[in-house]
Order: sequence, then C-alpha cells, then structure tokens
Amino acid sequence: MIIVLRPGATPAEAAAVVRFVEEAGYTAHRSDGQAQTVIGVVGALPTGLDLRPFEVLPGVARVLRITAPYKLAGRHFRADDTVIDLGGVVVGGREVVLMAGPCAVENRDQIRAVAASVKAAGAKVLRGGAFKPRSSPYSFQGLGQEGLELLRQAADEHGLKVISEVMDRSQVDAMADLVDIFQVGARNMQNFDLLRDLGHVARPVMLKRGLAATLEELLLAAEYVMSGGNHRVILCERGIRTFERATRNTLDISAIPVLKTLSHLPVVVDPSHATGVRDKVIPVARAAVAAGADGLLVEVHCDPDHALSDGAQSLFPDQFTTLARQTRAIAEVIGRSQAGG
Ligand code: PEP
Ligand code: MN
Repeated sequence: MIIVLRPGATPAEAAAVVRFVEEAGYTAHRSDGQAQTVIGVVGALPTGLDLRPFEVLPGVARVLRITAPYKLAGRHFRADDTVIDLGGVVVGGREVVLMAGPCAVENRDQIRAVAASVKAAGAKVLRGGAFKPRSSPYSFQGLGQEGLELLRQAADEHGLKVISEVMDRSQVDAMADLVDIFQVGARNMQNFDLLRDLGHVARPVMLKRGLAATLEELLLAAEYVMSGGNHRVILCERGIRTFERATRNTLDISAIPVLKTLSHLPVVVDPSHATGVRDKVIPVARAAVAAGADGLLVEVHCDPDHALSDGAQSLFPDQFTTLARQTRAIAEVIGRSQAGG
C-alpha cells in the first residue's frame, strides 16, 4: 500500500502518518519526492483491509493498494528517478557513468595498469572481482581480501570509485570498508539472506539480473535490499540465457526501457557478460546507451589473452577508449552526457 501526501503536507503530518502506520503493525518507508511525499506501507496487508483510517489522516491525498508484488522498487513509490551519489560520481542522473576494469584482480601490476587506462578513457568506477563465482571449482577463484585491497589502492591512485562482487554474507562487513558499490552477481540474485544483509549496509548495491530471472524477479530482489532500509540499489542487465549459442548470453535490450517504466532505480548494462565475445562488446554498449542505460560495466584487461578469467570478452585498453568515445557521442544525441573523459 502507498500513502500519497498532499503537496503542501507538513513534516509533522508526514511524521504522524508514519507513526500511525507503525502502530498498525506495518513498516513505513518514506520517500520525499520533488512534488510530494509518499509513504510506502510494507507488511502482510490483509485483503479487504479498510483504507479509510489511513485516508482521513491529516495531510493524506490518497491511498493506493499496489498490485505489483514489489512496492519500494516501483514507480508508484517514487515518481522521481533514484539518483545515487557515490561522492562526486552520480549514478542515475543525466550523466552516463562508465565502470570498467578486469573480470578479476590478478596482481598489483595488473590492476594498476588497467586502472590507469580506464581512468584515461573516462571511467569513473573501477571494477574487479576478488571473490569470483566461477562455473568450475578448478578455475581461478580470485585473490579474496588481498585482491580487494589491491583494487582499492589502484582506484585511489587514480581517483576512481570501486565496485566488486560480494558472494557471501560472511564477506559483507570486511568489504564495506573497501568498496563503494557492492555487486551482487547473476548467480546470487536470489540469495535472499545475502540480499537481506545488504539491506543494512551504508553502501549502494548493484544487482545483476539472474541468468533466468524475469524482470519482476529482479525487482523483487531489489525489494529485499530496499525493505531492509537500503534504498540505494542499481539494477544491471547482463544478458539472460536463451537458446542462442552465438553469444555467451542474450542481452535483453528492452529490459532497459521496461525497467525504467516499472522502477525508479538506475539501470546499468554489462555488455561483456551479455556477449562473451570481445568484438561484440562495443556495438552492444552503444545500443545500451541509446536505449537509456545509466551506465555500463565493462571488462578491460591490458593483456586479455593471458587473463585468468573472461579474457575472450575483455577489451584491450584502446578498444575501451573507442567505446567511451562512441558512447559519449550517443549520450549527447539523446540529451545526456557521459561523465569523465
Ligand atoms: C562479473 O561481473 O564479474 C560477473 C561474474 O558477472 P555475472 O554475475 O553477471 O556473471
Ligand atoms: Mn567476468
């Protein structure tokens, strides 16, 4: 249920509505939009619940029962786009943000070299896995905590923010000091205990769409994080599994405008895992920006042929420079701009 306050409702009226909701046994989530304040009521609302006691509260304009199973992630709750400020780097605003780096942090020299190259091309966020979800237990599993520290140092040398994947609840606390964005991988999109824990961290969370997840399931995963109080969630379309084998996954390009209609959360696209093939990454990245993506997450490696993971889909630095130049031009055509460069 959503309680929409009148445009001129006072802070005291809003606080009284929140109190009333809580006394009725529900959780209240308040969102102060540009035009009006909305209070999301979360909990097991009985069918046939009488809405009138809520409707008559001072300051209330209307009360809506929301049929979508997600409440906080939906546009009903927040008409304005969610804009996430990482401290100088803004995701979900007018600027398209490039996040780039290797699939995995391999050693100090590797991550420093990639950081320098993606920074020069205009990236604002350095990516790199330290805890790697590999399909085979015999593949390189990442450097763990040491990898995170190398990633942070390399990012700091170049004024970049850090995104890295959290695989397990046990990693959350140690990672919170080292990352600016927690990445939840496709394989973990429905790790509900992990999502609940991330609902309590003071860092944004980027949720990657599961290999076979619907957009509703992705938004429900976001709802898990948001219902814990962390509303700073970024959605990531990274390709889904279809019958097509020419590419590693199939990018669902229409997911971008559909998510933008259903939700106020920023949408980032990962053209690397979506295609799995280096020479397909740039065209798909261009398409994603044209379709309205708020950012791109791109794998870049200085020596991809010797990468310990995902070399075949990793761009050479000069290719990433080309990507950045082309997506900047596209961003401008659709009335946006691209951070950096
Ligand atoms: C990654 O970004 O490193 C990754 C493992 O991606 P995904 O979870 O989308 O497969
Ligand atoms: Mn990868």
